[in-house]
Amino acid sequence: MKVAFETLGCKVNQYETEAMRALFVDAGYTPVSFDEVADVYVINTCTVTNLGDRKSRQMIRRATRKNPDACVVVTGCYAQTAPQEVSAIEGVRLVLGTRQRDRIVELVQTLPKEGCQTVVETITHNRDFEALGVELYHDRTRAFLKIQDGCDRYCSYCIIPYARGPVRSRPLDEILTEAKRLRDNGCRELVLSGIHVASYGKDFSDGTDLFSVIDALEGIDGIDRIRMSSIEPIWVNEKLSEAAKKWHKLCHHQHLSLQSGCDKILKKMNRRYTTAEYEKAVLRLRELYPDIAITTDIIVGFPEETEEDFLETMAFAERIGIAQIHVFPYSPRKGTPAAQNPHQVSGPQKNDRAHRLGALAENLHQRFLKEQCGKTETVLFEEKQEGFWIGHTSNYQKVYIRSNQNLSGQLVPVTIKEPFRDGLSGGMIDAEE
Ligand code: SF4
Repeated sequence: MKVAFETLGCKVNQYETEAMRALFVDAGYTPVSFDEVADVYVINTCTVTNLGDRKSRQMIRRATRKNPDACVVVTGCYAQTAPQEVSAIEGVRLVLGTRQRDRIVELVQTLPKEGCQTVVETITHNRDFEALGVELYHDRTRAFLKIQDGCDRYCSYCIIPYARGPVRSRPLDEILTEAKRLRDNGCRELVLSGIHVASYGKDFSDGTDLFSVIDALEGIDGIDRIRMSSIEPIWVNEKLSEAAKKWHKLCHHQHLSLQSGCDKILKKMNRRYTTAEYEKAVLRLRELYPDIAITTDIIVGFPEETEEDFLETMAFAERIGIAQIHVFPYSPRKGTPAAQNPHQVSGPQKNDRAHRLGALAENLHQRFLKEQCGKTETVLFEEKQEGFWIGHTSNYQKVYIRSNQNLSGQLVPVTIKEPFRDGLSGGMIDAEE
């Protein structure tokens, strides 16, 4: 039996797809690419924006067109928040929300001959972390390690707390066991992933928190790098400054979510920091790691955002000198407070602001890339493509070099030359060739 997977959205979704892939492989299924004819298609969906829903539906239809007799399984956040809508799509046989994925093979093998089965739990009061483990990332030196699920922040534009439920942290011993298994399978870099990683440990009573996780991973030989997925200013505090003195593996890249550079809009978004607090966090990170790359997400066209508010965001992003900005035109999500705000910004205005901020983001990124040139950086090489070995620096810049050596999974010091493709070109320090 052949099974194919398509994953939309975040690192947590990618992690969960890897886990579901392993369950099917253990049950004797052969994974094939999503473009091939398969007996089972699993679409792990995203609902963070309307576009996420639309792309999820496109993938579902692509699967049913590829093999009308296939068993199409739709799981993830869109399935969790809109099960009726998903089960009504022709060809869908199983709708599985953001829980019970450990039962996916059993559910597929016991499906009734006809119709669509829906297995979607109410998630708002769920307190257990779902034990979906990953042992091996096929031929990866860098692995996502899910340590947390859910979010209690309820930012006014966000549907995620309704799709993922409250904060659930993974027991520390389980995290360490999986980290060692991934290390034994060749992973040298772990990306700590979750829906709201900064909330890790919030549901524990013994004081275990995100610092405890990094402290423990620092002690595992063979794990050379620890990368954070996305973090918030609340975590960038005095405790981090103290802890960072003894850490050697934390990568010099932080995706520090901003969303807006205007305090009025941050308040309306129900974000829990001001621009001054955000800037303080950036300055602290730069003091700890002078070569750090700070990347972020910014929403433009949030309800009630005026041209002046938007210009404040542009000025703030430029002043902070953010290395990379992911720009999102505001997408009203049914069921969120912001979607009910009568003062929505028009589509053309949103697109215009996204275009202007996008141009600024490109300038800031090019400026950051140029600042890397001439430096010596250690690169973890992951793959070879078109004669280039490709890997990432600690501050998450993609580096391309030519070498006859097998650099797969190697941490190598490289001289950074110039911007190249979507990254930088580099040269080996002591090139033998
Ligand atoms: S922190 Fe806010 S934006 Fe992020 S998942 Fe939670 S509610 Fe959504």
